[in-house]
Amino acid sequence: PQFVKILDVPFINTTRAAFIQTLQNRIEKKEKTFVVTANPEIVMATLDDEDYKRTLEKADFITADGIGIVKAAQLVGEPLPERVSGFDMMMDLLEAANQKQYRVFFLGAADHVLQQTLEKVKSDYPGIQIAGAQNGFFDWNDSVLPQMIKDSKPDLVFVALGFPRQENWIGGHIGQFNQGVFIGIGGSFDVFSG
Ligand code: UDP
Repeated sequence: PQFVKILDVPFINTTRAAFIQTLQNRIEKKEKTFVVTANPEIVMATLDDEDYKRTLEKADFITADGIGIVKAAQLVGEPLPERVSGFDMMMDLLEAANQKQYRVFFLGAADHVLQQTLEKVKSDYPGIQIAGAQNGFFDWNDSVLPQMIKDSKPDLVFVALGFPRQENWIGGHIGQFNQGVFIGIGGSFDVFSG
């Protein structure tokens, strides 16, 4: 099957490499895309939080972030090939962005973590065009940030706000954007910069 459902959450049945290719194809076609990297905590949250469940229904793709999801798929008799985690995809997408000179927007984490992340991107991935950046401690009611992201015409937007903020933020704003692959990646900037 193309999707494997765990407690009603449809996970894309794919290897990481094939999924990264899917995302690159969508970037080339400027197809707006909402990606959720879901671990067991996220699946459990859909059980008692209707709003969060509806937010996940807006996602174009939900990937198996963590061995817990891969194990659960095995238990229901529809195995997934491997885990497809946010951090691993961030590394793959940075590589692709470096080669293809994608425009990348970095959203989230503490400001010093974000600044270190940007420095490392500039030195290790010189082909990347930094479309913009904003730390994860901003006013959600202010429309400046969504407008800034829209105007930056990003190919790729890393949203590192943690669960459930990143899914809620992307789900709440995706309708305003014209393009970009938006992917929630949790604490990946902290790991990348550390
Ligand atoms: N974070 C953020 N804004 C917030 C809260 C957290 O940008 O309002 C960032 C935090 O700095 C870290 C990431 O989100 O880089 C993940 O945070 P946390 O570990 O609390 O989330 P989880 O592990 O639950 O995804």
